[in-house]
Amino acid sequence: MKTTTETDYSRQEHHEFLAASQAALTDESLQSSLSLLGSTLGHRNSEAFAAFPASAQLREKARAIKDATLAELDKHLETLEASVKSRGGQVHFAADGADACQIILNILTKANVRRVVKSKSMTSEEIHLNPALEAAGIEPVETDFGEYIIQVAGQRPSHIVAPAIHLRASHVADILSPVAGERLPPDATELAAFARKRLREAFATADVGITGANFVVAETGTVVLLENEGNIRLSTGMPRVHVAVVGIEKVIPRMADLPVFLKILARGATGQKMSVYTSLITGARRPGELDGPEEFHLVLLDNGRTKILGGPLRESLFCIRCGACLNACPIFRNIGGHAYGGIYSGPIGAVLTPLYDGLAANHHLPHASSLCGACQAACPVKIAIPEMLIKLREQLHHEPGESGRIEALAYRVWARMMRSPTLYRLGTWLATRTAGRIWTSRWMSKLPGGLNGWTVSRDFPAPAAERFRDWWEREGKGGPT
Ligand code: SF4
Repeated sequence: MKTTTETDYSRQEHHEFLAASQAALTDESLQSSLSLLGSTLGHRNSEAFAAFPASAQLREKARAIKDATLAELDKHLETLEASVKSRGGQVHFAADGADACQIILNILTKANVRRVVKSKSMTSEEIHLNPALEAAGIEPVETDFGEYIIQVAGQRPSHIVAPAIHLRASHVADILSPVAGERLPPDATELAAFARKRLREAFATADVGITGANFVVAETGTVVLLENEGNIRLSTGMPRVHVAVVGIEKVIPRMADLPVFLKILARGATGQKMSVYTSLITGARRPGELDGPEEFHLVLLDNGRTKILGGPLRESLFCIRCGACLNACPIFRNIGGHAYGGIYSGPIGAVLTPLYDGLAANHHLPHASSLCGACQAACPVKIAIPEMLIKLREQLHHEPGESGRIEALAYRVWARMMRSPTLYRLGTWLATRTAGRIWTSRWMSKLPGGLNGWTVSRDFPAPAAERFRDWWEREGKGGPT
C-alpha cells in the first residue's frame, strides 16, 4: 500500500495540482486520516460557534476591526514600532522572504548562535527560514509536536494548525524511531513523551527562540501567542534572544481589541473556548523580572502584503490562520494539504498561494473549489473566499498560457452572444443543427481541440436537437398547461 510518507508531494512545493490530487485520492492511508477531519476538527469548530451565543456579533466585530486596521495600517505599524522600541525591543521591516531570512541570520550571527528552537509559525514556513538557517550552519529545532514530526520526516505542514494531520501514530513511530535509536510503539502518549524529552534538551541549550505571532498589539508592542503544548512558553522564556517573525497584517491597534480575537481564534482552530496557553510578551526582560530574553527582535514581513492591501483581494489579509476553512472544505477533506503545493493550503491557501507565489505558477488553485461557500460560513472573520477565487479566475484570463487563452476566448464569444439577441438566435440555431444532431445523448464526453481539458474529468452538456424557442413556436405561444 502506498503511504503518505512515501510521496514526494509531502516534501516538494510547486508541483502539478491535478497530479498531486489524483495521488492523494488513491492514497489509502491519507484518505483514512482525512476521513476523520470533518467529524473531529470540523465538527468541533461548528459546535463551538453554535454553542456561543455572541459568536455572530463577535465575528462581525472582528471583521470590522480588521477592516479599520488595514485602512490605516501604516499608522498602526508606526505606533507598533515606537511601542516595541520604548520597551527595549528592536524592530526590523522585511520586504520579502529573503530579506526576512537575512535579517534573522544577521541577528543569529551577531549572537554567535548554532542552534535555535522554533515554535510553529506559518510565516517562518512562508519565508523558508529553516533551509536558510541550515545553509548557514545553524540547526533549527521545531518544538511543536506536529512540526517536530514533519521536520524529522523532511515534510511540509499539511494543515495550518495541525501540520501532521496526514500521519497516523504508526507513521510517527516509523519517523521518530531512528531518532530514538530504538523501536518506538505506535502510541500517541509514548511518542509525545519521547518528543518532550528530546525537546527539553533543545530548550535548555538553544540561545535563540524564534516564534511567529497570532497578533501584535500596536499600542503596547505586545506579541500575542496562542498554543496548547507549552513549547512557545519555553521557546520564548528560556533562550537569551527572542525573534518574532510576523506578517504586517497581524497588527491590531489596541489591547481592548484582543479579547474579540482570542474568543474566535481558539473556536475556529480547535473548537476550544480558549487555547491552553496565551502568552503576551512585551519586549525583553526588564530589571527585576525573573525570566524572559535579554534581547527581543520583531521582524515585520511584507512579502507582497502591501500590494494586496490596495487590490481587490484585500480581504485575504483578514485571515487569522485558524484553519476552520480547511476543515469545512469538501476539496481539502478529500485531498489534504500537500496537494495544494504551497505553504498555505485549503480554501484560503488557494487564494494566498497565488497572491504570494504568483498566479501563473499556481493556476489550478483558484479552480480547486466547488464554490459551495462552506469555507466562508466556517470562517470566524467571514472572509468571502469564494468571491476571491472567482476574482482570481478572472485574473487568470489575463495571464499568458494556452489553456487560459482558449478559455478566455470561449467566455468572450459566450458573453458577446448573450448580449445580442440576433447573435444568440443564430448561435443556438447553428448549435442545434450541427452538434445537436451529431450528439444524440445528453452529454458530450470529449470536447474537440483545445477545449478538451473541460472533459478530462467531467462531461459537457450536449446541445439539444431542438431549441426551446422552436419548441415554443411549434406548441403555440400559449404553451402547454
Ligand atoms: S480564511 Fe478564515 S477560516 Fe480560513 S484560516 Fe483564515 S481566518 Fe481561518
